Amino acid sequence: MKPYDLAFIGFGAAAMSLIARLAQANWPGSLVVIEPDAIERNDRTWCGWGPNQHPFSDQLTQTWSRWAVSQAQQSVIRDAPETPYEMLHAGGVRERARTMMQARSDWACLADRALAHSHQSANGVWQLRLNTDEDLSARWVLDARPPALSLTRPWLWQSFLGVEIQGPAFEDNDTVRLMDFVDAETPWPTFFYELPISASRRLIEITQFVPEPSDMKALESTLHTELNRRGIDHTAIIRQELGHLPMAPIASYNQNHWLRIGAAGGSMRPATGYAFHAIQRWADACAHSLITQQQPIAPKRSRLLDWLDGVFLESLWRRPEQASQRFITLFEQTPPAALTRFLMGRASRVDIARVLLALPKGPMIRAAIAHTLRRASGAIQPNTPR
Ligand SMILES: Cc1cc2nc3c(=O)[nH]c(=O)nc-3n(C[C@H](O)[C@H](O)[C@H](O)COP(=O)(O)OP(=O)(O)OC[C@H]3O[C@@H](n4cnc5c(N)ncnc54)[C@H](O)[C@@H]3O)c2cc1C
Repeated sequence: MKPYDLAFIGFGAAAMSLIARLAQANWPGSLVVIEPDAIERNDRTWCGWGPNQHPFSDQLTQTWSRWAVSQAQQSVIRDAPETPYEMLHAGGVRERARTMMQARSDWACLADRALAHSHQSANGVWQLRLNTDEDLSARWVLDARPPALSLTRPWLWQSFLGVEIQGPAFEDNDTVRLMDFVDAETPWPTFFYELPISASRRLIEITQFVPEPSDMKALESTLHTELNRRGIDHTAIIRQELGHLPMAPIASYNQNHWLRIGAAGGSMRPATGYAFHAIQRWADACAHSLITQQQPIAPKRSRLLDWLDGVFLESLWRRPEQASQRFITLFEQTPPAALTRFLMGRASRVDIARVLLALPKGPMIRAAIAHTLRRASGAIQPNTPR
């Protein structure tokens, strides 16, 4: 049996993004996808700041040029038409990627199957056995399985639960509420995230930055209590999305023709949990490498941004109750285009300087010293997925 050139473990954002580029370039290699779930599912939306041309740009369902960060009576609203906040539905992206795959007879998408066992032959080819007892082989494995991690200070979990609701009519359909901080039983930052999809539809999430993943039942109860308290009336819940994202730099992995990709490979930004746009940048670079007959490449991390994110999260550990004020000041005092580039991991040095100037000097210097000393003493180990 001739080995596939590439085997993707997981048909998620990273696999689809690379496969779409290879399809567009009519890349001559063969590939296979192993996905334990169904392909047709609309389990999440991907949001972030553009502009960003990618093979799924025509799947953008919404863009907003205004966003707000708030707490009680305090609210900062920023406008930046040059860097709109954009949203894609995973269902549309999956359908597009699957259609692109179906156009190739030498590409296979094996849904409802998981990888059961793997070993590398003497000739370097990976032998993969699936839980259905099917066998296949591949020269390269690109593995996007979500990482099993245990995080230590300063890293945190971003736990969230959201509902897309249908309502009679909502107010203010132009402003994304990125963070609206609420009182919670924990001192750790807890906030509402609200996307006005249309006059009668909203995606509303409750999110926490916490040392251990939050209990989903408790989050659900907080979400519904807040919806009631705010008088957000709804006639139907269209869908739900939830997750626990590691706010931590995940070490790059590329050994013996086995690469980790996507969030598992380090494409997620520790201080934000955003990954989709970084995955697009990785997919551009990896597709270019393959199309020019070189090897696939793993996502790269920025040591400077990892350190800055570590300092920022260390400052949250030191005073979690001050997090809301820090975020409000950050959005108030940083020019929106510079801040959005920073949050998306494509900041210039000037953007980074602007962000640093907006943060309180004393607490950040103390957090920088603590984080640097803890790193130097070996107290902070690289986050390597198990
Ligand atoms: C609900 C949710 C909303 C998010 N929203 C945003 C957002 O708005 N903006 C943003 O930038 N980031 C967002 N993220 C973070 C990140 O962008 C996404 O998690 C993104 O999908 C990561 O892409 P990926 O390819 O690494 O992983 P995924 O897209 O999660 O793909 C991994 C795939 O691996 C499969 N898999 C799991 N276990 C196995 C196994 N044992 N064998 C084979 N396959 C397996 C899964 O079924 C899945 O299809 C969100 C995450 C979640 C969970």
